Amino acid sequence: MLEIRELEVAYGAARALWGVSLDLHAGELLCVVGPNGAGKTTLIGAISGMLRARSGRIVLDGRDLTHLPPHRFCEAGIALVPEGRRLFTGMSVLENLELGSFTRNAKARRRQTLDQVIELFPVIEEKLASPAGELSGGQQQMVAIARALMARPRLLLLDEPSLGLSPRIVNDMFAAIRRINAEGMSVLLVEQNVAMAMEVSQRAYVLEEGRVVAEGLPQALMARPEIQRAYLGV
Ligand code: ATP
Repeated sequence: MLEIRELEVAYGAARALWGVSLDLHAGELLCVVGPNGAGKTTLIGAISGMLRARSGRIVLDGRDLTHLPPHRFCEAGIALVPEGRRLFTGMSVLENLELGSFTRNAKARRRQTLDQVIELFPVIEEKLASPAGELSGGQQQMVAIARALMARPRLLLLDEPSLGLSPRIVNDMFAAIRRINAEGMSVLLVEQNVAMAMEVSQRAYVLEEGRVVAEGLPQALMARPEIQRAYLGV
């Protein structure tokens, strides 16, 4: 569904991605893990159209999106849940959700999609009128995911959804991501919580210093001594 080929992204003279290639199949839950500064956020930024590729290709269902403006990436069906949630904290939860459904197709089906995200995250219903900033961290993360779903994407990009959440809430969050995927959504998850990300994903890529250094089935990757040493404190 998504083909990334030889992707290079730089911030001025500082190159952050060095020829990254990656495939995501339709319906898959794929994770990209790696240490701080490995380029995970940069990768997801490029796939969402927010960051420009210096070279390489980003192809969704055979369509080359690489040089299109960000709104085209949305229209093509890619939605991003950014690191740190980035909600409009002074606006109500409902207003935040409505901002997610700005494409014509999403706007036309707003009511229906809202019902669907409430079914997924029931706690949202009683908070619709509350300012988003008054919600707990876990609830805000749910609203951020719900806002992305309001765009009715086909591919959901999640940047560090577990960041700053307590272990119990992290479990709920990953369970929700798994549910979203089980209902048919393709998901690309970027995480520093390697153990949890590997547990919920069907396939994984390991990114280090802007390069893919390993890929495969999570179980096989987790069995490798160098991965255990680097990411699991073994
Ligand atoms: P983290 O988990 O800390 O977000 P990451 O794996 O997502 O790390 P990136 O944020 O993508 O990594 O950073 C990749 C590289 O690009 C790092 O060397 C970082 O310092 C650099 N970088 C990121 N954003 C910028 C920026 N706006 N300007 C300059 N360099 C940047």
